[in-house]
Amino acid sequence: MASYLLGIDVSTTGSKAVLIDANGRVVRTATNPHPLHTPRPAWSEQDPADWWRASAASIRTVLQTSGVSPDQIAGVGLTGQMHGLVLLDAEGRVLRPAILWNDQRTAAECAEITETVGAEQVLRITGNPVLPGFTAPKIIWVRLREPEVFRQTAKFLLPKDYVRYRLTGAFVSDVSDASGTSLFDVGARNWSDEMLQALGIPREWVPEVTESPEVSARVSAEGARETGLLEGTPVVSGAGDNAAAAVGTGIVRPGRVLLSLGTSGVLFAPLDAYRPEPQGRLHAFCHAVPGQWHLMGVMLSAAGSLQWYHDALAEDVPFDQLVAEAGTVPPGAEGLFFLPYLSGERTPYPDPDARGAFIGLSLRHRRPHLTRAVLEGVAFGLRDSLDLMTALGLEIRRVRAAGGGTRSPVWRQILADVLNTELATTDATEGAAYGAALLAGVGAGVFASVQDAAEIAVKEVDCVQPGPDAGLYAVAHAQYRSLYPALAPEFRKIARLAESQAAATQA
Ligand code: ADP
Repeated sequence: MASYLLGIDVSTTGSKAVLIDANGRVVRTATNPHPLHTPRPAWSEQDPADWWRASAASIRTVLQTSGVSPDQIAGVGLTGQMHGLVLLDAEGRVLRPAILWNDQRTAAECAEITETVGAEQVLRITGNPVLPGFTAPKIIWVRLREPEVFRQTAKFLLPKDYVRYRLTGAFVSDVSDASGTSLFDVGARNWSDEMLQALGIPREWVPEVTESPEVSARVSAEGARETGLLEGTPVVSGAGDNAAAAVGTGIVRPGRVLLSLGTSGVLFAPLDAYRPEPQGRLHAFCHAVPGQWHLMGVMLSAAGSLQWYHDALAEDVPFDQLVAEAGTVPPGAEGLFFLPYLSGERTPYPDPDARGAFIGLSLRHRRPHLTRAVLEGVAFGLRDSLDLMTALGLEIRRVRAAGGGTRSPVWRQILADVLNTELATTDATEGAAYGAALLAGVGAGVFASVQDAAEIAVKEVDCVQPGPDAGLYAVAHAQYRSLYPALAPEFRKIARLAESQAAATQA
């Protein structure tokens, strides 16, 4: 009997189901959206019931439209947005809306946790500083601001793990997703009793954790009724969205790096040992591959910078034409630089006040120069993250790129030149959900290992070599690197100025 595998991605915009066959070919996909709520500025919440409804609907659709019968599904894998906090009472009822990864309400709680535990200790145990997006500061926020909710809490779950709970009845997470909670001993691949005790979070609240390809639970009678899956179908632990996307593009061993060039940009590098960046400038998390960790750099406005530039200055020009024009001017855009910090930055400068800038404008510059500067500025910012990785001793032989920005051959060549590595693209287009389906295949015994799954399923379709401009870009990158430090104090002053101007306008 043919084996099929199902991956579910519970993202911020919607829940996607991807059905693949045992060779990794995509048979069907379906996505159902869920609403985002911002009850106050800087708050970001979703209703976990919406995730479940959308996930169940997407599963039903791929089953019904593919002609694949439920008894042919060998396994299900889950992935999704990381860091989100779902609080449940002793009966498994959701106590308040989930607080998401991009919610910014917890700056004070982050400072409190860092002071209580000690910055060095936090970095040593969890691999990262405590960031407002992470889960632990959200729990502390609830303890302080919603004590009644805190009193009733019996469990907390991450977004994809809530969908697992509804599908199987089990409270389970995986090592990659748990790495983003600030409560996880990333080196030991288990919950940190030290962090839990220091923050007064009971051990009984945390879900069991397993490695990503392990079978975590089986579809319950109720889960089967709501999705059309067969009761007893194995569900693997799965992974956070970036780790699953890395599996889905074959980034499953040290030496290869994933570049996701979407609205935000992510560089993801597997490691065979736990090696956090000494100052916490890169994330250090468990990978979805057993025995591997990864380093990750995040640029907040990557292809998002090009999108902004297009919308603000060249709305009527199709993207393909706009980017092709950039190919008509020389590398370096005749002395023009662009800083891509349009919404602040994460890596390598964790600075919410940083802003975008064109620097070096002259009368010679025309639209193609500006476009080229945007493409180059994003590439330089990504090179900064890559340099943090190589400074830790990582040997990076090849970058695989995915996401909307890689559609442009001009941008792909600029990236290969600036990063000074081969830059490949793959045939895998379904992202994290596809990686989750591959993990399901490992748990179900369809593939021997995560590496085998990636080998069988993911093929490179194109590869760009660094060209003759790489030397020129090395020099230009050195100039680029001196711009942020020079401007950072001014960005801080400008942010305060903008706040006072906004207050004066409102008054
Ligand atoms: P996300 O899912 O993170 O929103 P996508 O991976 O869908 O992002 O990529 C969207 C981005 O792709 C847009 O921000 C846009 O700048 C970029 N983009 C769209 N078309 C092109 C193109 N032809 N060449 C290069 N970049 C493009």
